[in-house]
Amino acid sequence: MAAEITVGSARILLVQGDITGEKVQAIVNAANSGLMGGGGVDGAIHRAGGAIIKEECRAIVSRIGRLPAGKAVITGGGNLAAKYVIHTVGPVWRGGDRGEAETLAGCYRESLKLAGSGLIKSIAFPAISTGVYGYPPEQSAKIAVNTVIEFLSSGDTSIELVEFVLYDAHSFNIYQRELKREKANGRRKMIEHAYAEVNGVKLHYAYCGKGPLIMFLHGFPEYWDMWKEQLKEFGKDYLAVAPDMRGYNLSSKPQDVSQYKQRYLMEDIRLLAEHLGYKKFILAAHDWGGAVAWTFAMFYPQFLEQLIIVNAPHPVAFERELRNNAEQRKASSYMLLFRSKEAEKRLSDNNYVYLLKIAFGEIIKNGVLTDDDVKGYIRAWSQPGALTGGLNYYRAANVEALENHAEAIKKPALSDALPRITVPTLVIWGEKDTALLTGCVEGLEDYIADCTIRRVPDASHWIVREKPELINQLIRGFIK
Ligand code: ADP
Repeated sequence: MAAEITVGSARILLVQGDITGEKVQAIVNAANSGLMGGGGVDGAIHRAGGAIIKEECRAIVSRIGRLPAGKAVITGGGNLAAKYVIHTVGPVWRGGDRGEAETLAGCYRESLKLAGSGLIKSIAFPAISTGVYGYPPEQSAKIAVNTVIEFLSSGDTSIELVEFVLYDAHSFNIYQRELKREKANGRRKMIEHAYAEVNGVKLHYAYCGKGPLIMFLHGFPEYWDMWKEQLKEFGKDYLAVAPDMRGYNLSSKPQDVSQYKQRYLMEDIRLLAEHLGYKKFILAAHDWGGAVAWTFAMFYPQFLEQLIIVNAPHPVAFERELRNNAEQRKASSYMLLFRSKEAEKRLSDNNYVYLLKIAFGEIIKNGVLTDDDVKGYIRAWSQPGALTGGLNYYRAANVEALENHAEAIKKPALSDALPRITVPTLVIWGEKDTALLTGCVEGLEDYIADCTIRRVPDASHWIVREKPELINQLIRGFIK
C-alpha cells in the first residue's frame, strides 16, 4: 500500500514497514541526545547498521556534546542499505506549550538541510517522537508533512524523494489522511512564481492562493521574499501577490534613472493588478514599496480597498521631518551615499559585506535572518543590474532637504500639492527604526482621512522579518 504526492520536482512517498530496510540514500533516526542508541526505531537502526554507527556517534558527541532537540547530525549507514543515517532528536511531548511543534519541525527541516548539503537525493523519515516521546500522532503527522512540503517547495535542494516510513497501519492511515488534505489545499498554500509584461517592463512576482487580491510591495534592499510569511497566511483566502519591484531581483531593470520616478512605479502596480484581473485590491507595502503605495493611494484611490503601510514615511511627513528635524536628516544621510556613483562598489565589495552590515547587521547578529536568508539576498542583489536598480529609487528621488537644506526650506511644501488620502489606512511602525524616526508617524491624521496607527516599540525597520506573525495578525484585524 502506498500514497504519494509531488512537490515541485520532488516526490513524497508513504511506506508502511521497517525503515531499516529502506533503499534510500539516507534514513533518519529518531535518536536521543546522547546518540548512543535506545529503544524503538533508534535501537532497530543501530542493530541493523552495526557498531560502526555507534562509534561515529560517540566521536560526534565527544566533539560537539549532546545533541539538542530539533538538531541533526549525519553518520555513515554501516550495514544498512542506506549509505547514511541522519540522527535527529525529537521533542518529548509535554502538553504542547513548550515549543514542541517548532522543535519537531526543526527535526525535519534540519535533517533535510543536512541531506541537501551533502547532495543526497533520497531520504526516509520515521514518525519522530511518536513512540516513547509521546507526541500525538495526528499533530506530528501534520508537522512532518507540512515541514517537508514547505522545504521542498522552496526548490533549492538536491532532494528528489522523501519517504515517510510508518511502522504500523494506524500511523500510515494518519499520514495518508494528512497527505490527502495537503493534496486538496496544497496548491492554495504553495508559493508559486510568474511574470507579467506591463508598463514596458517584465515583473516577476510570487503568489499564493486565490480570492480577492492583496498585493505586497517591498523596499530597499529587499525582494519579494520579505513577504513570504504573508503570502502563505493570506494565500489561505486571498490571492496574495508580492512582485519584485522594477529594478530588483528577477524583474526588469530599466537603465535610465528617470524610469524610477514614482509615476512609473505606481503605474507598474496598477497594471500588474489589471493584468491579474482585478479592478480593486488591498495594498500592503514597506520602505520604498511604501513610498509607491502612499503615492498610489493619493492618485489612484479608486483601485484600493485598503492600504497597509509598514515603516514607510508619508511623503509629506517625510519632507516635513527632513526640513525640520536635524535628527531625521542625520538618520537619512546614508541616502547621499546611495545616490553617489561609488555606491555600487562600496556596497557590493567582498560579497556585499558593507550592504549586509548597514542594512541587516543587527538582525543577522540576533538571528532574525538565517544563513539561507543572507544567501537569498546575495543571490537577489547579484542579478545583473539589480543593485543599481534598487539604488536608482534613491537617485530618482528629490532629496534637496539633505543636499541643500537652506534652499530646500524656502520652497513650497509638498503638503500644498498632494491630495489627502481617503483610502482606509493602517500604519504599522517598528519604533526602533534607525533610518526612519518616529517623527514620521506624527500628524498623519492631517493627510489621511481614516488612519489607524499601530506602533511596535520593540521592532526595527525590519519588523516584517522580525515579527511575521504579528504583521499577519495586524493586517487580518484591519482588513476583516
Ligand atoms: P521517539 O523516542 O522519538 O518517540 P520511537 O522510536 O519510540 O521514537 O518511536 C518513533 C516512531 O517510530 C514510532 O511511531 C514507532 O512506531 C516507530 N518505529 C519503531 N521502530 C521502527 C522501525 N523499525 N521502522 C520505522 N518506524 C519504527
